[in-house]
Amino acid sequence: MSPIIYPTTNLKKPSDLVIERGDGIYIFDNKGKKYLEGMAGLWCASLGYNNQEIIDAANAQMSKLSFSHMFGGKTHQVGIDLAEKLSSMVPMKNAKVFFGNSGSDANDTHIKILRYYFNAIGKPQKYKIIARERSYHGVTIASASLTGLPVNHTHFDLPFDALGVLRTDAPHYYRGAQPQESETEFVNRITNNLEQLIIKEGPETIAAFIVEPITGASGVIVPPQGYYEKVQAILAKYDILFWADEVITGFGRTGNDFGSTTMGIKTPDLMTLAKQLSSAYFPISASLVSDDIYQALVEPSNKVGVFGHGFTYTGHPVGCAVALKTLEIYQRDNIFDHAADVGEYMQTKLLTLKDHPLIGEIRGKGMIAAVELVADKKTGLAFSHGEVGNFAMKSCQQLGMITRAIAGSSLAFCPPLIITKPEIDEMIFILQQALDETF
Ligand code: PLP
Repeated sequence: MSPIIYPTTNLKKPSDLVIERGDGIYIFDNKGKKYLEGMAGLWCASLGYNNQEIIDAANAQMSKLSFSHMFGGKTHQVGIDLAEKLSSMVPMKNAKVFFGNSGSDANDTHIKILRYYFNAIGKPQKYKIIARERSYHGVTIASASLTGLPVNHTHFDLPFDALGVLRTDAPHYYRGAQPQESETEFVNRITNNLEQLIIKEGPETIAAFIVEPITGASGVIVPPQGYYEKVQAILAKYDILFWADEVITGFGRTGNDFGSTTMGIKTPDLMTLAKQLSSAYFPISASLVSDDIYQALVEPSNKVGVFGHGFTYTGHPVGCAVALKTLEIYQRDNIFDHAADVGEYMQTKLLTLKDHPLIGEIRGKGMIAAVELVADKKTGLAFSHGEVGNFAMKSCQQLGMITRAIAGSSLAFCPPLIITKPEIDEMIFILQQALDETF
């Protein structure tokens, strides 16, 4: 037994898969077995494995400058170039960028920036954050508190109250609608709940509302038409900031550059980016804030003598070089257009399985999807445990495809953005066989 404490694992039943190498959209285990990577690793390896250009960029940067920190404003060109590139790509005006190592720490950074900002503008009581049920924002003490999944809370005694985390509905019509409720009525009800929560807590105490434009790890929930329009109107009415956690939905995943674009979200005030930022060749994340927020931090930091937040590896030059090369490839090779085209094909092909007796709902957008397995197709009755999802996931694995059982009994699909239509056919073929084995 290895001395590793495995992450997000039933520690009594860790997987016995040992992965040795990757190439394109495939990975290979230590026995030479080949798997189609239906999850792009963990929603991140957008350009697949063994991309020589990215490897060369990392090697070149390691040879030139393997490390330099950014404390005190000491900087390097590749970091400046990456920040400028990101700022020009995101649907925010003149965004400022703070670099981190992971999606979780990037969300922690935002919580701290929000506190700093509201203290700076004389509103110290405005610190609460609304997060949704069934959301995933990471696993540090603070980001896990934003996460809305019980499995990430149980036994950890998280400081929800101290952090001011408030919870509102998940925008999942299939699971959340009341009997006979239309989609429009569902949207009206849950956005009304949001407004009532704001009024009850006091808008002057609420800093921001955090959302994944389309949720990932909690089941790939695509909110119904009209949801974000209503949400943004409510937030504007009560002067609450909109925070888009695009750790999964950023960079071409949902059929557009960002999930915010796909979902018609206008100009987030804060954005969190990680994963596909570097196509997972190097751990790097970015917390982006509007220019207004940034400008308000400058004077107070001058008074204290320092903006007292930063990681050793903030702006790691190798991470910056890898991310910069990744963004260059996205643009040069029109990867987002390719992903939009193949993503639409993937959604259409998945829907051909909709009559399968195990499938309750197929949902997704672009190159991200989930297939929810149910105990009773007619009523949508959920399985009372996650074993069926795990069984189907293992069947896929035996048949040569990696997927992930999430949110109980859903299987997730999030292949590398470079996947082709014939490879999607291969993916669907394996899924169908696995579902037949599971049924
Ligand atoms: N936010 C979202 C939306 C995520 O999906 C994740 C990870 O899956 C995170 C934050 C946390 O990122 P990390 O695992 O890099 O800490």
